Amino acid sequence: MITRIQDGVYLIDTMALGVREFVAAYLLVDEKTALIDTGYASSLNVLLSDIKSIGLDPSMLDYIIVTHVHLDHAGAAGSLIKTATNAKVLAHPRGVKHLVDPTRLISSVEEIYGQVAALFGKVEPIPPEQVSSVEDCARVSLGKMRLKFVHTQGHAPHHICVYEETNSFLFTGDVISGTYPSFPVFVPPSVPPSFDYHGLIEDLKRLMKLEPKLLMVPHFGVRQASKSVFEGEISLLNWWKDFISSEKESGDVELITDAACKALAKKFGVNVKEVPDYVRTSIKLAVEGMLGYLERSATQGRES
Ligand SMILES: [Zn+2]
Repeated sequence: MITRIQDGVYLIDTMALGVREFVAAYLLVDEKTALIDTGYASSLNVLLSDIKSIGLDPSMLDYIIVTHVHLDHAGAAGSLIKTATNAKVLAHPRGVKHLVDPTRLISSVEEIYGQVAALFGKVEPIPPEQVSSVEDCARVSLGKMRLKFVHTQGHAPHHICVYEETNSFLFTGDVISGTYPSFPVFVPPSVPPSFDYHGLIEDLKRLMKLEPKLLMVPHFGVRQASKSVFEGEISLLNWWKDFISSEKESGDVELITDAACKALAKKFGVNVKEVPDYVRTSIKLAVEGMLGYLERSATQGRES
């Protein structure tokens, strides 16, 4: 499903894994067109039919921008480029090699998700001549809309945010917590394998200074932006780090995830008995990513 946010700015619900309001992509139509994130490879048909439904042929796409190479954001880029033949894929310099040769990325995803990974769809490599890296603060003009890329490596070392300067819209990628209508808590974006707590705090402080008006969040949808929204994200991360630190002794990820679901429900006043599977999986990943971070900072002897 595609929703018009304003002239030339659209939100695509990629219907990830058949679930509504789980993974969003954003489409910008100006003199040039850009798709920001693609969703999973298994969402390709939804993506193509949504793009066509506003009268745009995929061959008219100029840019496919991936905020990072995790498969819920970049999974469909390789198969999309086969019809979006004129598009350039733009990514963080550290993401490019994974887009050109996704072998390592796929095995890392299989390690983290196990059998569930098959549902994400087949990740196709992108021809190297169709991928370009974007440096921090690099800009691309679409016409009236102007995009500025911001390297934000706390969530993952290959992560960028995209700031649309004319409207002050920030396409956040996974710098911002996820929230889902079926269990409306805010899930911190602390996923494995390389989540960096300090890095993400710095990212949030830097993005706050841009003073965006709206946040275009992949998980899920448009949020009003303000200083207090960013401060809320920072305090959520601090609370989450303390919570996981206090629970980590049990050493059992499933138990910690159960406790985390309860603690998040309490914190956000949510009264849902059954946590939907896909939300529980998101919370479990956030647990694992923070546990990994705490372990790495302990072995590096660095005070976290
Ligand atoms: Zn994501």
